[in-house]
Amino acid sequence: MRLGVEAALVDGALVPGDVELVDGVVGEVALGRAGKGIAVPGFVDLQVNGFGGVDFSSTDANGYRRAGEALVATGVTAFQPTLITAPEENLVAALAEIPEDGIGPRVLGAHLEGPFISPHALGAHPASARRDPDRQLLERLLAAGRVAHVTLASERPGALELIDLLCERGIVVSLGHSNATASEAHAGFDRGARTVAHLFNAMRPFGHRDPGLAGVALAREDVVVQLILDGHHVADEVAQIVWRAAPGRVALVTDAIEAAGIGDGRYRLGSVNVVVKDGAVRRPDGVLAGSVVTMLESVRNLHALGAPLADALAAASSVPARLTGRGLGRLEPGGPADVLILDDRLELRGVFVGGKERVAA
Ligand code: ZN
Repeated sequence: MRLGVEAALVDGALVPGDVELVDGVVGEVALGRAGKGIAVPGFVDLQVNGFGGVDFSSTDANGYRRAGEALVATGVTAFQPTLITAPEENLVAALAEIPEDGIGPRVLGAHLEGPFISPHALGAHPASARRDPDRQLLERLLAAGRVAHVTLASERPGALELIDLLCERGIVVSLGHSNATASEAHAGFDRGARTVAHLFNAMRPFGHRDPGLAGVALAREDVVVQLILDGHHVADEVAQIVWRAAPGRVALVTDAIEAAGIGDGRYRLGSVNVVVKDGAVRRPDGVLAGSVVTMLESVRNLHALGAPLADALAAASSVPARLTGRGLGRLEPGGPADVLILDDRLELRGVFVGGKERVAA
């Protein structure tokens, strides 16, 4: 089928002409007479705690289906359900519910955010469930379900050995929730960590003589920088600095919780009680605890801060997808047909996952 679009985002450039989808993959691009809207790669969200009234720490197949419908309606065609620090039995139970296949969007595997994090950079994670690196515990968690991504603090004793183990298994490692100094952060990246979780949030503050994990992640060209752009986690000027310092390696993540797509009120993030008010998610003591931003809103926010549209879209698709190694996040002949149609106001007019229409114009 042809999408009837005016242009398509291919290899970072808008190519005029229509796009054809054939048997779940992208056929030809730059076809014939122009239609309306642009085709762009589907969004890939590396960090989603919950969505549409569903918290992935305590849900089942039905919940995943409901969350999937709500996520795909915001342009997410692949994601990592994310579990924050929690007692082992809770993580094991939640990992057992990770679906094997797509549920609308593709489920790339769990993102374990913790429990091997710093007691000095907990953010909203419960201190009681935090653990120092423990190989046996990690093995039990990996055996409990499909894990794609682990966030840990590289300065904790034994963390580098866990990075070795995760890299051997093909699991992506983020450094985050960390009090690492610059040299401790370098050690983690040198050992195989490829990315940093929500830059600036829950890590040692950047100082000009003490750059810590944040400074090292910005300085190293081999590190993908994950950023939450909900207007609350970093100031606009900081987002602009990050954008200029790390061109082509900023990955937008939502860090969305179950309230995303629902509204203000009282919710849960794992075992943590949170309050959503005016688009910010906080614990009762004021600590930020995830977001209610969507990937599409994050792209609009980045574009509004000065990033060219093609680059803002790449930050939600090809850059995060690069970490997942599944050939996603690109719109090119022969590649998976995970495609969005956007109009000129950046409203979503259609979503395809593997060539199947999930959201109709
Ligand atoms: Zn976090």
